[in-house]
Amino acid sequence: MKDKNDKIINNKPAGLPEKKVNMPPNFIRTIITADMETNKYGGRVNTRFPPEPNGYLHIGHAKSICLNFGLAQEFGGRCNLRFDDTNPLKEEEEYIQSIQEDVRWLGFDWEDRLYFASDYFVQLYEWAVQLIKTGKAYVDDLTADEIREYRGTLTKPGKESPYRNRSIAENLALFEQMKNGKFKNGEKVLRAKIDMNSGNLNMRDPVMYRILHASHHRTGDKWCIYPMYDWAHGQSDSIEKITHSICTLEFEDHRPLYDWFIQNLGIHAPQQIEFARLELTRTVLSKRKLLKLVQEGMVDGWDDPRMPTISGLRRRGYTPESIRDFCERIGVAKSNSVVDLALLEHCLREDLNKRAPRVMAVLRPLKVIIENYPLNQIEELEAVNNPEDPGMGTRKLPFSREIYIDQDDFRENPPKKFFRLAPGQEVRLKHAYIIRCEKVIKDEKTGEILELRCSYDPATRSGDDPGGKKVKGTLHWVSLQQAVPAEIRLYDHLLDNPVSDDAGEEPDFLAPINPHSLEILQSFVEPSLKTAAAGSRFQFLRQGYFCVDSKFTSPNKLVFNRTVSLRDSWAKIEKSQGSEEK
Ligand code: ATP
Ligand code: MG
Repeated sequence: MKDKNDKIINNKPAGLPEKKVNMPPNFIRTIITADMETNKYGGRVNTRFPPEPNGYLHIGHAKSICLNFGLAQEFGGRCNLRFDDTNPLKEEEEYIQSIQEDVRWLGFDWEDRLYFASDYFVQLYEWAVQLIKTGKAYVDDLTADEIREYRGTLTKPGKESPYRNRSIAENLALFEQMKNGKFKNGEKVLRAKIDMNSGNLNMRDPVMYRILHASHHRTGDKWCIYPMYDWAHGQSDSIEKITHSICTLEFEDHRPLYDWFIQNLGIHAPQQIEFARLELTRTVLSKRKLLKLVQEGMVDGWDDPRMPTISGLRRRGYTPESIRDFCERIGVAKSNSVVDLALLEHCLREDLNKRAPRVMAVLRPLKVIIENYPLNQIEELEAVNNPEDPGMGTRKLPFSREIYIDQDDFRENPPKKFFRLAPGQEVRLKHAYIIRCEKVIKDEKTGEILELRCSYDPATRSGDDPGGKKVKGTLHWVSLQQAVPAEIRLYDHLLDNPVSDDAGEEPDFLAPINPHSLEILQSFVEPSLKTAAAGSRFQFLRQGYFCVDSKFTSPNKLVFNRTVSLRDSWAKIEKSQGSEEK
């Protein structure tokens, strides 16, 4: 039988199936299957992931990436990566690079299908001219404020602009002048001529082009008019012959507009399918808000391990496998809901449990001298790397007279059931001996505990004495002389009251950062970690999963991030749900 500690060390959440059972429904899969059966797109499936390069990707984007690339893979189709780079003011090359890195790291490949909406600027311009020529678009001189006012509301009909009935010839001439830089920012716009009384506000003559004298990261100064997102997006899908244009629910009301453009241009019609965006408890998923945290210096960059960005999760120690597993398990639905962060962490633990080597690290060191252990003796003890996977082998662990244990593992006045070290009490040192605490050495003035004096029983070496003495507690430790100093960073949630959606505009959004979201400890790790590579992941016995930080680790400084603790709150949630159902 295993003792209490071993259960924690092995981290196998009780009562959970190993494999995914009851895969959540995916209504998009059902739609595509039906389309394949009716040969709707000639048996073709072509999806796309269309990020706007105005920030780093976050875990919400991962849901969309897994969905789009995953469905293409599943149906033997293709998925494009397209940058929706229609706004020159907010976009940066850095974002374009990071987005590609993140999609690749998640395990997906767009092959040679990397596209930019800006590559379609000429085609979009020509199509706009086509709509003007058929009387479906006009140049408007109203200001942005006036346009907003004229648009009306859900309860108030819109009002037509006095410029709405300009002749086709005049519209063509004005639009060309707009393109040629004749007007200042905001002086004119091109609008679609649809219906100012439509019940759908998106159909009340939406703006297609605005004037912006700004350099674009790809087209430079070639253009001073830029297409609005709603004008560019559907046509970009059409140009790429997308079959299933998967997007989040807030675009449901835009679909009639996208269909209107496509119909009036007479071009390939992709099928738009909306799904609920991912929201996570205690997590902000809005690029705008995440950008603010970066700009205000509240985090150490987009890849701060507390950030819900893909790069932050990667630096924190998440694996792409665990994120894909999470996206599969949450499924896709038509109504918004909030997913428990504990599920993401559970997927991570399941993955790391299989692959992370077990090692020992003492986070808050307390010195222990084993008085009856021979001076200057060093034993090389054998330690298993992963009880879940014997193939991962063993390593040598030095043991000597002076060691560190964790301060939390000692109590001078232990409460009941405290099975760790206390005066007169015995514990096993993992992979080593049973020791007993004989004496507590304190600072005379402050009363602070400086070190413990212990004795060991040479007959109790691990592995030598299978039927021998049993104790209730097993502690991790490191040998003082060989221990490697390391900085260990413990994380907690970043924001106390996150509002995760982007719906409510809060211009002054300044997040109240959780002051305990980062705790930095000066710790010791076992010598085998001395040369651990940046990004490598370990289980620190009884503490959690940790990974070597790729930003702050240097040849003379080892820094670890705590990826996730061992406590699995999701397993508890699932267990309680299971028992409710019974
Ligand atoms: P944000 O609100 O964070 O700025 P966004 O929707 O503006 O996100 P885009 O770059 O436009 O970001 O998104 C690219 C794709 O990712 C879109 O298809 C969008 O629907 C999808 N996406 C964005 N956020 C989420 C989310 N939380 N859950 C699922 N999909 C998302
Ligand atoms: Mg967007």
